[in-house]
Order: sequence, then C-alpha cells, then structure tokens
Amino acid sequence: MSEREAIEVSRGEVFLAWLRSEPGAVCLILLTVFLACLLGIYTRPVGFLASIWPANALLLGLLLRLPRAAKPLGWLAGAVAYMLADLLTGSSLFKAAILNFANLVSVGIGYAILARLPPEMIRLRRPASVFHLLTASAAAGAGAGLVGGFANPILFNSGVLSGWTFWFSTELVNHLAFLPVVLSVTPFQVGRLFDGPLLRRGDLLPAVVLFLSGFVAVLVGGPGAIAFPVPALLWCGLVYPVFPTAVMTLMFGIWAMAVISVGYIPSLAIPKGEMALVSIRLGASLIALAPIMLASVMQSRNELLGKLHDLATRDPLTGADNRRAFLESAQEMMLKGRLPLAVLMLDIDHFKAVNDHYGHAGGDAVLVEITRRTRDCLRTGDLFGRLGGEEFAIFVPDCSQTVALQVAERIRQEVARVPVALQDGRSVPVTTSIGMVLVTAAGVTGLDGLLAEADAALYLAKHNGRNRLETRILGVTGS
Ligand code: GH3
Ligand code: MG
Ligand code: MG
Repeated sequence: MSEREAIEVSRGEVFLAWLRSEPGAVCLILLTVFLACLLGIYTRPVGFLASIWPANALLLGLLLRLPRAAKPLGWLAGAVAYMLADLLTGSSLFKAAILNFANLVSVGIGYAILARLPPEMIRLRRPASVFHLLTASAAAGAGAGLVGGFANPILFNSGVLSGWTFWFSTELVNHLAFLPVVLSVTPFQVGRLFDGPLLRRGDLLPAVVLFLSGFVAVLVGGPGAIAFPVPALLWCGLVYPVFPTAVMTLMFGIWAMAVISVGYIPSLAIPKGEMALVSIRLGASLIALAPIMLASVMQSRNELLGKLHDLATRDPLTGADNRRAFLESAQEMMLKGRLPLAVLMLDIDHFKAVNDHYGHAGGDAVLVEITRRTRDCLRTGDLFGRLGGEEFAIFVPDCSQTVALQVAERIRQEVARVPVALQDGRSVPVTTSIGMVLVTAAGVTGLDGLLAEADAALYLAKHNGRNRLETRILGVTGS
C-alpha cells in the first residue's frame, strides 16, 4: 500500500469513527435532514407539497443504522432540521409544525416496524428484507397520510382523500428509492467513498449496460420504454452487493421520473390527472424493488455458500484446512510445478499423555495453540492442514532447500519455545516431531509418494528421540 493510500484509508476510518460517536451521528442527522428538506423544498411546485422528499427516508435510515443516534437527541436533531429548513425558506410556523408532525409520524411508524428486526434483516441481507421494507414504507406513508390528509383542507384548500393519496404515494416512492441505499451501505463501503471508486473497473459492465438501456429507451420511446432497463437492473442485482444495486435502482428511479416528466418519451407522456402520475411513480418504484430483492437473496445465498465451503474445507477445532481440502490444494499446487517444494508432516509428541494429564479439553486447547504457532511461521501461499488427530501437514511451494530447512526448524522451535497456557492456569509443555521431504526436480513422485516419504521421515524423527526434524531430499541435492 502506498503512503497516499494509507493516508486515504485512515481518512475513511476517521470519518467512520466519528459517525459511530453520538455527536457525529447527531451532526450527520442534522445536516442530512436539513439538506434533504432543502432539496424537497426547492424542487416542489409553488403552492404544493413536494413529491421529491427524501428527508423522511434518510432520517429513518440513519436512526436505524446509527444506534447511538436513536435516542431523544437524535430525534430532536431531526425535528430541528425539518423546522429550520421550513422556517428559513419562508414557511409559516403553523404550516411547518403541522407538515413536520406528519413527517415525524412517518419516521416514527417506519422505525417502530423496522427497529425490532434483526440487524441482517434491516441491512437488506435476507430474502425477506424487501418485504419488511415494503411493509414499513407503506405503513409510514399511510400514517403520515392521515395527518397530512386532514391538514390538506386547512393548508392547501384541498380534499382529505387526495391529501392522503399524495402523502401515501410520495412516502412510499421516496422510501423505496432512498431507504435501501442507507440501510445496505457497509462501513467498508463508506470508507471506500473516501478512498476510491466503489466498483472495480472489471465490475462495471452491468452499470454500463444499465446506462445504455436508459439511452435506448429514450431513443425508441413508447409505453414499454420504462421497462427497457429492467434486464440490466436485474443483472446489477445478480452481480453487485446490495448497496451498489440500491444506488443503481435509485438512479433508475430518478431517470424514470425525469424522462417522464420532461417528456423525453413522447408516447409515454402521461395523461392529465394526478392519479396517472401517482400510478407511474408507484410502478417505477416497485420495478426497482426486484433488483434489490435479487441482491438480498444473492447476498444471503453467498453467505450460506461461504459457510458451507468453510464446513466442507476447514477443521472445526483449529480452523486449519481439513484433510480433503489440504490434499486437493496441494495437488493443484503440484501441477503448477513450482520447484523446489517441501512437504512436512508434524505429529505432536506424547499427545496421549497430554490428554491423560490435562483432559481432552486441555488437549484441544493445545491443538488450537499449536496450529496458531505453526501458521505464524508460514507464508501466505503455504498450505497447512490437519490430517487427523494431532497430525498436521504443510506444503511449501517454491522454496529453496535452505528456506525449507529454516521454516521446519522454526516451527519445531516455536512449538516448544513456551508451554501452552490453559484457561485454568496450568501450562502444558509441548514438543513436535517433523518429517520433511524436499523435492528439487520435477516428476520425482506424486503427492501420495511425497506424503509417504514425509511420513517415513516423521517416523524416523520419533524413533530418534522426538522434538526433532528429519529430512529427505528427492531429486538433485544442493539446489
Ligand atoms: P507420539 O509421540 O508417538 O506421537 O505419541 P502420541 O501419544 O502423540 O501418539 P498417538 O498418535 O498414538 O496419540 C494421539 C492421540 O491424540 C490419541 C487421541 O486420543 C488424541 N486425539 C486425537 N484427536 C484428538 C482431538 O481432536 N482432541 C484431543 N484432545 N485429542 C485427540
Ligand atoms: Mg503424537
Ligand atoms: Mg499421531
């Protein structure tokens, strides 16, 4: 990592640490809600309610993601930001108080529904996440609509039902567009915002195709054009984690609203009347849920596959590769043929006696600690597996005879250096015997042959007094 990168990573980390503190979280809420309100206020038609209103979804998302902010101070910061934005842009205190009460009702309902879910569900990493997102958004919209609907005749000289419909659809659309972005972002991704591009260059294709399909939709036009980006959106959901997918669907939502309202797709020009607009906005938001759902399902599937892979390849006690995984990887590495290479067999000395003196749990603790000590002596590319019981194998590719001898000797010394401390305060002196085979020329023997040679060397080490290394060299010596 270059010095510059190191500085940038630390900048991302400093920001994250600040966000996790209560003052940081509260400041972020204040600023975000205030700016989001301004965005809504300046894009709304004169004398009407705003239809772009991300403030409620963003406040809800921040309260859910920053637990330190979900306290009276955080809620107060949100309320202050709403009022400040309205009063500074010339709204009356009466009107601002009623509308912001409706906003807080929306956030309160959304919070009551989502905050009791497990964190993984909230962060859109479970197949059912989108269902909860939809339920909470609809309930928040319906609740805010009650307040806003009854306020409609007083503030805007308009009907209760049309007020409710407007609030409900606006809340739903804005929640579905903005909430997934806040809920799914990971600390790593927040750090990356400071450190570099979110997607690697090789991953850009689905995003590029999404952009192109938006362009083609405008060129072709017609009532079907709105669905042109759907395959690319689904591809994003399939390939990207939830957060980049949520960003793509947000961009799709903004694109859909823009091309329709500006009339870039002439034959899709919406008929006059509020309901047609509401219908098309709801339609676009619901389309955007599909890729997010797909990304959530993929996320939990990938986690599950990762767990299954661990179960299939790792020894549960020590975390080392299990026998099968070790043999498979070693076989693969042998085919690559980087020589010289070394295969080591380790067997803890008098381990039965360890079990007898310190119990099976004591023996287990020794196995875990010996694994850690051994791994510390290895490079990242070396393979380390537990073949069974207290027997381990190591595959060291691409190493000279001197290096191989040094590695093996270092492991032997590290294992024996200090006794293993048990939790009950006792300490267990441990030693290990090692048999090593070093291969300096290609085609001498296969993996099975090498393991048999290393095993024979290990037998010799035991025979010659234990806590020692015996080596065999196959091929030309001295390389
Ligand atoms: P040597 O120096 O000749 O290797 O003597 P040893 O006592 O280590 O010999 P042996 O290989 O016969 O004994 C291995 C013991 O390891 C026997 C078995 O009870 C114990 N063992 C095998 N797997 C585990 C395990 O997962 N946990 C614990 N605690 N003991 C295990
Ligand atoms: Mg043993
Ligand atoms: Mg043994």
